[in-house]
Amino acid sequence: MGYWKDIVVGGWSLVEGMKVTGRALFKPVVTVQYPRQRLELSPAYRGHIELKVFPETGTHGCIACGTCQRVCPSGVIKVQGVKQHARGGKVATHYVIDFTRCSLCGLCVESCPTQTLQFSTEYEMEGPSRWDGVVDLVTRMEESRS
Ligand code: SF4
Ligand code: SF4
Repeated sequence: MGYWKDIVVGGWSLVEGMKVTGRALFKPVVTVQYPRQRLELSPAYRGHIELKVFPETGTHGCIACGTCQRVCPSGVIKVQGVKQHARGGKVATHYVIDFTRCSLCGLCVESCPTQTLQFSTEYEMEGPSRWDGVVDLVTRMEESRS
């Protein structure tokens, strides 16, 4: 008796499973064949931060004030700047950030007095070493323009 019961239960289980497969078979395909296909990013997407280039000056607007460095809860920003003229303010020469420890909280972007920080749309940053995530945004900005 147990033998026949196992066959009936097993057969019914198979039918239930095939019903689920059958329903999925005729649904539209939602799998994206990345990297050949890509989804359009949401406007709210937050990639790593980057320096915004202003068309009026052709460069970033970082004055190396250090506000972002101070507000960053993860302590991953280091900014260096120089005075270009005796009476002028500073201009950032190095803006180093460790993306591997950035929580994308946005405090740096919100607190910047010159609005020169923004979230990028980058999502393919990778590397074999964790140090590949430590980047100088000034250098990165210059490389992206050349
Ligand atoms: S997004 Fe937040 S954690 Fe990342 S660098 Fe800016 S302040 Fe720091
Ligand atoms: S990015 Fe903005 S907040 Fe940070 S040092 Fe430069 S000017 Fe100051």
